[in-house]
Amino acid sequence: MEVLIIGGGIIGLSSAFYLQQAGYAVTVIDRTDMQQGCSYGNAGYICPSHFVPLATPGIVRQGLKWMLNAKSPFYIRPSLSPDMISWGWQFMKSATRAHVERSAVPLRDIALLSKRLYEEWTQTPGLDFSYDPQGMLELFNTEENAHHAEETIKEAKSLGLDARLIDKATLQNMEPDTAINALGAVYFPGDAQLYPNQLMNSLKDWLRTHGVQFRGNEEVTGFITDGNKVKGVKTKTAVYAADHIVVAAGVWSRDLARELQLKIPMVGGRGYSVTFENGPYKVRHSVILSEARVAISPMNGNKIRFGGTMEITGLNAPPRMQRVQGILESVKRYFPAYDIPLPAAEDVWYGYRPCSADGLPHIGTLERYPNVTVATGHSMLGISLGAATGKLVGELVTRAPLSMDISPFKVERFS
Ligand SMILES: Cc1cc2nc3c(=O)[nH]c(=O)nc-3n(C[C@H](O)[C@H](O)[C@H](O)COP(=O)(O)OP(=O)(O)OC[C@H]3O[C@@H](n4cnc5c(N)ncnc54)[C@H](O)[C@@H]3O)c2cc1C
Repeated sequence: MEVLIIGGGIIGLSSAFYLQQAGYAVTVIDRTDMQQGCSYGNAGYICPSHFVPLATPGIVRQGLKWMLNAKSPFYIRPSLSPDMISWGWQFMKSATRAHVERSAVPLRDIALLSKRLYEEWTQTPGLDFSYDPQGMLELFNTEENAHHAEETIKEAKSLGLDARLIDKATLQNMEPDTAINALGAVYFPGDAQLYPNQLMNSLKDWLRTHGVQFRGNEEVTGFITDGNKVKGVKTKTAVYAADHIVVAAGVWSRDLARELQLKIPMVGGRGYSVTFENGPYKVRHSVILSEARVAISPMNGNKIRFGGTMEITGLNAPPRMQRVQGILESVKRYFPAYDIPLPAAEDVWYGYRPCSADGLPHIGTLERYPNVTVATGHSMLGISLGAATGKLVGELVTRAPLSMDISPFKVERFS
């Protein structure tokens, strides 16, 4: 049985990993050389602590304020494109307290499953990705967020997750390498960190060694259908036949889904990161700066990555260095000794998070085409949920019992 996976990001590669193990002949096809996409330069958090989806009542209010500031963590370029309008409408409808409450358990469950699977991967010969289960610190420096931190801890505990309020002195003891300007932090001991570039390269090597075929620099432009079966895909130069097709093309899955008469409202939430190797900046835990929405990730022993912003401007807009400047200035507000110079544009990475309209992924086999499985829309959580999504795709394709209830992630929920 031959499976063709469209997309060689974390979701596609993780799916390939489980499908290869299930004995399938797997081909991964990607329109790029698979070196730079969203799954590479991200912050690498494995975060069961992120049980709140992007669509919340607060983000709409806060987002409108932030839109006026070029260095702020969030920006939407107003647009009349039908994709943007459809996404915006569904996003506003989803940003309710009830949706946040409904989403917490499924997000927790898929994150915990994923974390357990990444731990299994650390024992898999040939896979190496600097997995570090030291937990995450979410720093705050306003009274409003100190109060919010207490609420978060209550909610986390009610979900059975470990979350602790850390005062300024304890925070400084946990991060002794530089002075910190914060009122305190929430510590999530159950979170972990990995080095995404290494994960992706290691997965590709492992898959190649185990017989998975790769077709790089080939863009899927359409599908060949026969009744309710998809027999293969078309690229500009070739046709690939397959028994089962997995659509894991990140934010571009929206356009491929349309070819299958399926509506997945999704936009690319662009984020930026800069990485320093053997530099003077040091943190011992993964850190989030709550007010600034900036992530600081220690990676692979000698690296540190600063990342953030959510910029919704279409998929071809030139990068905006003001956003990167905003990230680095935010770091200095919490870590006053860190005067991080703005790097040259070519040293700044950016990627497009596949932001679904309700902040939940779309994972499932299509009702209309039972030999097509879709896995996309992971927004800010594609790495965290990557291993579990691959496992679930493997189970869907092989029709094995599912590791968890995936009904909240139904692919057709907006169709
Ligand atoms: C700054 C930043 C920080 C982040 N930090 C974290 C974090 O700490 N933890 C976390 O869990 N997540 C994080 N994320 C989010 C995470 O990176 C994404 O959710 C994840 O990478 C999405 O993976 P994917 O496989 O769905 O998509 P992608 O990585 O975008 O892969 C999709 C692939 O499909 C290919 N493709 C598209 N269209 C076609 C086509 N027609 N034909 C063939 N190939 C096609 C693309 O070339 C691409 O390689 C962060 C993102 C950003 C930007």
